Order: sequence, then structure tokens, then C-alpha cells
Amino acid sequence: MRALIIGVGQCGTKIADLFSLVDFEALAVNTSRGDLEYLKHVPHERRILIGESLTGGKGVNANPILGREAMKRDLPLVMRKIGSIIGYEDVDIFFLTFGFGGGTGAGGTPVLAEALKEEYPDSLVVAIGALPLKEEGIRPTINAAITIDKLSKIADSIIAIDNNKLKEGGDDISKAYERINYTIVERIASLLALVDVPGEQTLDASDLKFVLKAFGSFATVGYAKADAGRIKSLSRLITRSFESEGLYLEANIESALYGLVAIHGPPEVLKAADIFEALNYLTNKIRGKQIFRGFYPDPREREVEVVTLLSGIYESRSIEDIIITAKRYAQSFMEAKEEAENKKKELLSGLPDFDDVYA
Ligand code: GDP
Repeated sequence: MRALIIGVGQCGTKIADLFSLVDFEALAVNTSRGDLEYLKHVPHERRILIGESLTGGKGVNANPILGREAMKRDLPLVMRKIGSIIGYEDVDIFFLTFGFGGGTGAGGTPVLAEALKEEYPDSLVVAIGALPLKEEGIRPTINAAITIDKLSKIADSIIAIDNNKLKEGGDDISKAYERINYTIVERIASLLALVDVPGEQTLDASDLKFVLKAFGSFATVGYAKADAGRIKSLSRLITRSFESEGLYLEANIESALYGLVAIHGPPEVLKAADIFEALNYLTNKIRGKQIFRGFYPDPREREVEVVTLLSGIYESRSIEDIIITAKRYAQSFMEAKEEAENKKKELLSGLPDFDDVYA
């Protein structure tokens, strides 16, 4: 399976940089020259500066309208670069990584997603975006709401990562982001690495594409890992991967349409009865009742790793919080604006033009 990771904006390019570190094909697109230079692993010829005529290479200051405009202006450049990297071998899935709360990523990602869907109709476009922290204030929440709305009409799936959920109390912010980014890449890279691996019960690209082709709804990735020697119940470990603590965002997994579970570990631990118990439980729990599964017994392995992907999710508190907060804000802002206008009219009404005073 071929996946191309495209990072947009600062958060997105940092995540793409980590994918590049673990040998995925990755590209970085940003309006800030400085942030592009700061990356460590994406090759220099795969770093694309956009919107230079608009911002002088200095970024868009968390303004998604400017981010959208920058991507629009330089879309031919970005698409040419992508075309030259792709060559003649098809890409199965484009993963677009970005931060929902900023400007370049939030504004530019939907524009790029739309262009990719048009140019490569057989490939999937999956958005992987970090949701803003509550303490960042209202602007990032509004940026996120706008971008959720746009992407839900374009992308095949949106893998939303709730920074609030993954940040641990007391974490310094840049440390927290670094750790969250590792978490994102570790899980998705583990899953992608297991697709198309030859074996008995394995996952292929068409399974993954089926699960992710979910009309712009939300998806999440769950994860659980343990030392093989310490596992008391494999079934419990698998279940843990799709319970709240293992997931990227607060979501009601019962609302999910499809799922996929990949289990990797030493053969003596991967007992069929335990695996089927957990998978039957999950199959019955989700609305769509379809779970794809892959078992990867590996005699060299000392740990058991479970990666779970759930898609078609429409009930998520992380997302609802953002949309509701943005809607409430928009409403109170409009009310305040109307009130101010009325007050202004009331205050100034009856005021003559005083021309006579100066006549
Ligand atoms: P842009 O460059 O204008 O697209 O802005 P950013 O990429 O900095 O996006 C800002 C948003 O992304 C904020 O809401 C942050 O919460 C989030 N963010 C920024 N950097 C990171 C990061 O490295 N990891 C994660 N998980 N979130 C980030």
C-alpha cells in the first residue's frame, strides 16, 4: 500500500516530519519559511513555501482566511510537486496532517484536499488534525469549527486528535505537543506497517480503504501495548485499545460504522479464543457491525501491540464541544454587534448637523 503524508502548517509539518523519520513518504507545506527550515527529516526538496507573495514567508498569524488564500495562490506549485513525487505508481491514501486551530493548516488543508480529490479520484484523502486546547481561547475554536465544516464535505474521513485528551496534567506545552505527535505517528505508522504484510489473517489496502471511505465522518485510532509476559488477559488488552483511554478523542464508539483491529505479538500469546471474544464484543458494540481484523504472530516479538481504527463516528464530545462553543460565540457576537449598532443609532438620533452654528 502506498500512503503519502502531506503536512500543512506548523503542527502538520511537525507531524509529517516524524512520519518521514520512520520512513514514510512525506511532504511539508507552510507559509512560514522559518518553520520549514526547522524541520529535521523531510528532505529539503519536499518542503514547499506557499503564499510568499501574501506574507513574505512569515506565516499567516493563525488566520485561516489567509491560509486558504495562500494555498489557493500556490496550488499549481503544490500539485506539481505532489505529481512529481507520485510518478507512475498510484497513491492509495493521502494523509493530510494539520492543526485545526491555526491558520495555514486550518485554511489550506480543505483547499488541498479538494484539489487532490479532483486530480486523484481513486485515492482516498484522509485528514489527520489536532483539535485546539480549551485554554487557547475562542479564535482557535472558531478556526476548528470552520475547518471541520469544510473538511466534512471533502475528505473521506477525518481523524481528529483531541489535544485536551492527550495532554497530561502539568505537561509543558511544547513537551506535550511533542509527546502527542509521537503518539499520533506511532499508532498510525504501526497500523500502516501491518497493511499488505503477507500472512494468514492479514489486512490489505482495500480493507483499510473500505474503513476510511466514510463520507467525511470522524475516525479515531485506539492503541494498547503490553509486555507479552505480563498479559493476564489478551481479550482485556484488546478491549482496552478501543475504550476511552486508548482513543484519540472523546467519542461514542457505538456510533461507529466500521472498524479494523490489528494485533501483533508472539504467537504463543495470540490465542484465537481470546481474540475472537474481544472482536465479537466490538463487532456487536458498533452500529455498522463490521470489523476487519489482522493477526500478526511474530516469534521475535516480546510485546503485544493492538491498533484499532474506528470510522464513521458521528457522536463525539470533543467535536460537539467545539461546534457548540463556536455557534454560541457567533450568536453572542452577532447580538453584541446589533446592540452596539442600535445603541449608536439611539445615541446619535436627533443630533442636528450643526451647519447653522458655523454658518
Ligand atoms: P498554522 O501553522 O497556522 O497552521 O498553525 P499551527 O499549525 O501552529 O496550528 C495551531 C493549532 O495546532 C493550535 O490549536 C495548537 O493546539 C495545535 N498545535 C500546534 N502545534 C502542535 C503540535 O506540534 N502538535 C499538536 N498535537 N498540536 C499542535
